[in-house]
Amino acid sequence: VLQPGDAGKANSSSDLPLASLNKVLMEDSAAGKVKRKRAQTPLEKYYLKYLCVTDLSTQSWCEQQMVYGREVPQLQAPETVVLLNTGKSIHLARELEVHDVVKVHTTSQEDSWAIKILNLLSVIPVLQAGGCVRELPVFGVIEDVFLTGIIDELCYSAKGELELRELKTRGRPFMPSRAQKKKDYFQVCLYKYIFDAMVQGQLKPDVITSHIQLRPEQPLGSQIREHAQKVGFTVTCFGDLLELMYLNLTLSDLPSIDCLKIEYSHQESNTLLGTEVVRFEEEKVREKAQNYLAYWKGQREVQGVEIEEAWKCQSCSYSEICDWRKKRAEGSEQRSGPKKSK
Ligand code: SF4
Repeated sequence: VLQPGDAGKANSSSDLPLASLNKVLMEDSAAGKVKRKRAQTPLEKYYLKYLCVTDLSTQSWCEQQMVYGREVPQLQAPETVVLLNTGKSIHLARELEVHDVVKVHTTSQEDSWAIKILNLLSVIPVLQAGGCVRELPVFGVIEDVFLTGIIDELCYSAKGELELRELKTRGRPFMPSRAQKKKDYFQVCLYKYIFDAMVQGQLKPDVITSHIQLRPEQPLGSQIREHAQKVGFTVTCFGDLLELMYLNLTLSDLPSIDCLKIEYSHQESNTLLGTEVVRFEEEKVREKAQNYLAYWKGQREVQGVEIEEAWKCQSCSYSEICDWRKKRAEGSEQRSGPKKSK
């Protein structure tokens, strides 16, 4: 598996001039109307050209919390940070069991994306041969928003079904609550949604270039070309790789994912706590994604948890500063009216 070296992060749109994001709708000043500024959508505000699947699954736990996580990450409880970092190390160790990680020098955003595409291209033959792959990159579009993700593991089961396995490590030695599982279910369902669309030929080259604003004519860096050559692809520019990806995905005859499984294990003891099999309901997944993406596209305001899930606020790192929580408390005070003096 290739990893980018020192090029700019792929989802940073720091190369985009701020003015292009900060569009001003000019109305006819001669007619005495006021100049009005269109409010930025959250995608524009955070300079995002795409979202990760985990952005949406985190949002499904509490959207407001996900926003605070982006805006004030320093408030995150230290134990949460340790848990996340340990989880990442465990994932890396599992990845290293099946392949080496090679650092590659990148010189452009196209190079960074070329690495993801080469990683995808290198696992297609393994899957075709009935093998097991880990850390498989997936990309796709839902509601006109580009999404990326990394599937932990894809394998064929004894029945010959293509099975997705997601590993979740836990700090506590027991299975998660129903609410936590719901968030994980949504994550794996999104992976299936995107992967199936990819193998069904929906990831056309221009889908990537138009959403991420990449240049197909951009020549690839020398290290990228060398690595492509090693895995059997002769490419010169980014567009060559996009074409190869599209052709390989559509002609490889890979099946859709048949089964979704989540394995929960205890971080400290590395013992398996249990496995959940997730039912995929396409319509529900699409509806949920539509609702979450409506926030990102600026079609609605950010929301916190519903009253019946207010228990989530008790263990939330942002409960002291949370506007949603404050508004809820004020609302309930007003409803109960002024207290009578004794
Ligand atoms: Fe969400 Fe509650 Fe945390 Fe606010 S305090 S961010 S509503 S979980």
